[in-house]
Amino acid sequence: MEMETLKDLFLDELKDVYHAEGQLVKALPKMAKKADSDELKAAFQQHLEETKVHQERVEKVFGLFDEKPKTKVCKAMQGIVEEGKETMEEDMDPDVMDAALIAAAQRAEHYEIAAYGTLRTYAKLLGEDEASRILQSILDEEGATDKKLTKLAEKINVDATTPDA
Ligand code: FE
Ligand code: FE
Repeated sequence: MEMETLKDLFLDELKDVYHAEGQLVKALPKMAKKADSDELKAAFQQHLEETKVHQERVEKVFGLFDEKPKTKVCKAMQGIVEEGKETMEEDMDPDVMDAALIAAAQRAEHYEIAAYGTLRTYAKLLGEDEASRILQSILDEEGATDKKLTKLAEKINVDATTPDA
Protein backbone atom coordinates (compact mmCIF):
# COMPACT_ATOMS: atom_id res chain seq x y z
CA MET A 1 0.00 0.00 0.00
CA GLU A 2 1.48 3.28 -1.09
CA MET A 3 -0.65 5.55 1.02
CA GLU A 4 -1.44 4.31 4.45
CA THR A 5 -1.81 7.46 6.51
CA LEU A 6 -2.86 11.08 6.28
CA LYS A 7 0.84 11.98 6.26
CA ASP A 8 1.29 10.04 3.01
CA LEU A 9 -1.68 11.88 1.53
CA PHE A 10 -0.28 15.19 2.82
CA LEU A 11 3.05 14.60 1.09
CA ASP A 12 1.32 13.56 -2.12
CA GLU A 13 -0.71 16.77 -2.15
CA LEU A 14 2.36 18.82 -1.25
CA LYS A 15 4.10 17.45 -4.35
CA ASP A 16 1.06 18.41 -6.41
CA VAL A 17 1.01 22.00 -5.17
CA TYR A 18 4.79 22.28 -5.59
CA HIS A 19 4.33 21.40 -9.25
CA ALA A 20 1.41 23.82 -9.54
CA GLU A 21 3.58 26.68 -8.20
CA GLY A 22 6.29 25.82 -10.72
CA GLN A 23 3.79 26.11 -13.55
CA LEU A 24 2.64 29.49 -12.28
CA VAL A 25 6.21 30.79 -12.17
CA LYS A 26 6.27 30.14 -15.91
CA ALA A 27 2.76 31.41 -16.66
CA LEU A 28 2.69 34.66 -14.67
CA PRO A 29 5.36 36.52 -16.70
CA LYS A 30 3.36 35.77 -19.86
CA MET A 31 0.20 37.08 -18.23
CA ALA A 32 2.02 40.20 -17.04
CA LYS A 33 3.28 40.79 -20.56
CA LYS A 34 -0.18 40.35 -22.03
CA ALA A 35 -1.96 42.63 -19.53
CA ASP A 36 -2.81 46.10 -20.83
CA SER A 37 -3.55 47.75 -17.47
CA ASP A 38 -0.39 48.83 -15.64
CA GLU A 39 -1.99 47.91 -12.33
CA LEU A 40 -2.85 44.42 -13.53
CA LYS A 41 0.65 44.02 -14.97
CA ALA A 42 2.10 45.03 -11.58
CA ALA A 43 -0.25 42.66 -9.74
CA PHE A 44 0.94 39.72 -11.87
CA GLN A 45 4.58 40.71 -11.43
CA GLN A 46 4.17 41.02 -7.67
CA HIS A 47 2.44 37.65 -7.48
CA LEU A 48 5.22 36.13 -9.56
CA GLU A 49 7.71 37.19 -6.88
CA GLU A 50 5.40 35.85 -4.15
CA THR A 51 5.01 32.59 -6.06
CA LYS A 52 8.79 32.09 -6.13
CA VAL A 53 8.78 32.53 -2.35
CA HIS A 54 5.90 30.02 -2.11
CA GLN A 55 8.11 27.48 -3.85
CA GLU A 56 10.82 28.08 -1.26
CA ARG A 57 8.34 27.81 1.61
CA VAL A 58 6.96 24.55 0.24
CA GLU A 59 10.54 23.27 0.04
CA LYS A 60 10.92 24.19 3.70
CA VAL A 61 7.76 22.23 4.55
CA PHE A 62 9.20 19.16 2.77
CA GLY A 63 12.27 19.59 4.96
CA LEU A 64 10.19 19.74 8.14
CA PHE A 65 8.85 16.31 7.15
CA ASP A 66 12.41 15.08 6.44
CA GLU A 67 11.60 14.84 2.75
CA LYS A 68 13.35 16.18 -0.32
CA PRO A 69 11.18 18.47 -2.49
CA LYS A 70 9.54 16.44 -5.23
CA THR A 71 6.86 17.23 -7.76
CA LYS A 72 3.86 15.29 -8.92
CA VAL A 73 2.29 16.54 -12.14
CA CYS A 74 -0.64 18.78 -11.23
CA LYS A 75 -3.03 18.11 -14.10
CA ALA A 76 -5.56 20.55 -12.71
CA MET A 77 -3.15 23.49 -12.90
CA GLN A 78 -1.97 22.30 -16.31
CA GLY A 79 -5.59 22.59 -17.46
CA ILE A 80 -6.03 26.04 -15.93
CA VAL A 81 -2.77 27.28 -17.48
CA GLU A 82 -3.67 25.73 -20.84
CA GLU A 83 -7.03 27.50 -20.87
CA GLY A 84 -5.29 30.74 -19.98
CA LYS A 85 -2.93 30.23 -22.89
CA GLU A 86 -5.85 29.70 -25.28
CA THR A 87 -7.46 32.88 -23.95
CA MET A 88 -4.29 34.88 -24.54
CA GLU A 89 -4.21 33.72 -28.18
CA GLU A 90 -7.68 35.08 -28.86
CA ASP A 91 -8.32 38.35 -30.62
CA MET A 92 -9.74 40.63 -27.92
CA ASP A 93 -10.13 44.28 -27.08
CA PRO A 94 -7.41 45.09 -24.48
CA ASP A 95 -9.92 45.66 -21.66
CA VAL A 96 -11.74 42.44 -22.50
CA MET A 97 -8.39 40.63 -22.52
CA ASP A 98 -7.58 42.07 -19.09
CA ALA A 99 -10.95 40.91 -17.76
CA ALA A 100 -10.25 37.44 -19.19
CA LEU A 101 -6.75 37.40 -17.66
CA ILE A 102 -8.24 38.18 -14.26
CA ALA A 103 -10.79 35.39 -14.69
CA ALA A 104 -8.00 32.94 -15.58
CA ALA A 105 -5.78 34.09 -12.69
CA GLN A 106 -8.59 33.77 -10.17
CA ARG A 107 -9.17 30.17 -11.26
CA ALA A 108 -5.52 29.47 -10.45
CA GLU A 109 -5.70 31.28 -7.10
CA HIS A 110 -8.84 29.44 -6.06
CA TYR A 111 -7.19 26.12 -6.85
CA GLU A 112 -4.24 27.10 -4.67
CA ILE A 113 -6.51 28.36 -1.89
CA ALA A 114 -8.25 24.96 -1.82
CA ALA A 115 -4.94 23.09 -1.87
CA TYR A 116 -3.22 25.14 0.85
CA GLY A 117 -6.30 25.17 3.08
CA THR A 118 -6.31 21.38 3.06
CA LEU A 119 -2.54 21.12 3.51
CA ARG A 120 -2.56 23.59 6.41
CA THR A 121 -5.29 21.60 8.16
CA TYR A 122 -3.55 18.26 7.59
CA ALA A 123 -0.24 19.64 8.91
CA LYS A 124 -1.97 20.89 12.04
CA LEU A 125 -3.65 17.53 12.57
CA LEU A 126 -0.27 15.82 12.12
CA GLY A 127 1.15 17.97 14.92
CA GLU A 128 3.48 19.86 12.56
CA ASP A 129 2.75 23.35 13.80
CA GLU A 130 5.58 25.10 11.97
CA ALA A 131 4.58 23.50 8.68
CA SER A 132 0.99 24.49 9.37
CA ARG A 133 2.07 28.08 10.00
CA ILE A 134 4.11 28.24 6.80
CA LEU A 135 1.22 26.84 4.79
CA GLN A 136 -1.13 29.37 6.38
CA SER A 137 1.24 32.19 5.37
CA ILE A 138 1.06 31.02 1.74
CA LEU A 139 -2.71 30.67 1.98
CA ASP A 140 -2.95 34.25 3.24
CA GLU A 141 -1.02 35.57 0.24
CA GLU A 142 -3.12 33.57 -2.22
CA GLY A 143 -6.22 35.01 -0.55
CA ALA A 144 -4.84 38.55 -0.69
CA THR A 145 -4.01 38.10 -4.39
CA ASP A 146 -7.51 36.87 -5.10
CA LYS A 147 -9.00 39.91 -3.33
CA LYS A 148 -6.67 42.26 -5.19
CA LEU A 149 -7.76 40.72 -8.51
CA THR A 150 -11.41 41.20 -7.54
CA LYS A 151 -10.66 44.83 -6.77
CA LEU A 152 -8.96 45.32 -10.16
CA ALA A 153 -11.86 43.55 -11.88
CA GLU A 154 -14.30 46.06 -10.46
CA LYS A 155 -12.79 48.70 -12.74
CA ILE A 156 -11.49 46.60 -15.62
CA ASN A 157 -14.74 44.69 -16.13
CA VAL A 158 -16.61 47.99 -16.40
CA ASP A 159 -14.06 49.29 -18.94
CA ALA A 160 -14.62 46.05 -20.87
CA THR A 161 -18.34 46.68 -21.24
CA THR A 162 -17.63 49.21 -24.01
CA PRO A 163 -15.27 48.93 -27.00
CA ASP A 164 -12.11 51.04 -26.92
CA ALA A 165 -12.48 54.35 -28.74
FE1 FE B 1 1.20 30.25 -4.82
FE1 FE C 1 -0.98 32.12 -6.32
